[in-house]
Amino acid sequence: MDAGCSLSSSITGKDVRLLKEKYPGVPVVSYVNTSAEVKAETDVCCTSANAVKIVKSLGVKRVIFLPDDYLAKYVASQTDVEIISWKGICIVHDQFNKKEIDDIRKNNPGIKIIAHPECPPDVIEASDFAGSTSGMIKYVKDNQPKKVMMVTECSMSDNIQIENPNVDFVKPCNMCPHMKKITLPKILDCLENETGEIIMDKETIEKARISVERMAAIGR
Ligand code: SF4
Repeated sequence: MDAGCSLSSSITGKDVRLLKEKYPGVPVVSYVNTSAEVKAETDVCCTSANAVKIVKSLGVKRVIFLPDDYLAKYVASQTDVEIISWKGICIVHDQFNKKEIDDIRKNNPGIKIIAHPECPPDVIEASDFAGSTSGMIKYVKDNQPKKVMMVTECSMSDNIQIENPNVDFVKPCNMCPHMKKITLPKILDCLENETGEIIMDKETIEKARISVERMAAIGR
């Protein structure tokens, strides 16, 4: 029950309300790694895979994009929309730095380095490709590089290695302490014994649902 996320804990519903007061009329796009309270103050949610599409779909000049500052910068680099961001970071992706990328490239000639857009901008720039979790998986599947480094949470490489046996994965391995708290036995316990119930008020549930459903309607 105490598995969290540094992005989610970086912002509250009150913070979003204050931003909306400061920038009246500017739509709010929030990453799915946010609380229901934040989603309830959000116009439309996004994932790393559809963030650019969602922002472009609004057809406006300015967007408040929360809470990942690096993902906001990545979206700004891919659109003409002015992005007002928040100072949230993913503690896993923030650990990567350009020197590490350069060193790995130097020590592994020919390696393809693919980064998640939650990484710092100079890490993305030093990489061969930037894409969401699904985008990274597709890149490896389609290109079958001899050697690859996925600049993201380390379980990702483990998960896709089985499906790509000819690809040699270099694993820098930054682990998310939150995600590692979620295990199969705990999920089984939750399903079988209905443990870990989360109780929320109806109004928050309904308001949060709208921002998620709008995202689903826009699609990937
Ligand atoms: S890796 Fe961990 S901290 Fe980063 S976005 Fe995912 S859950 Fe949050």
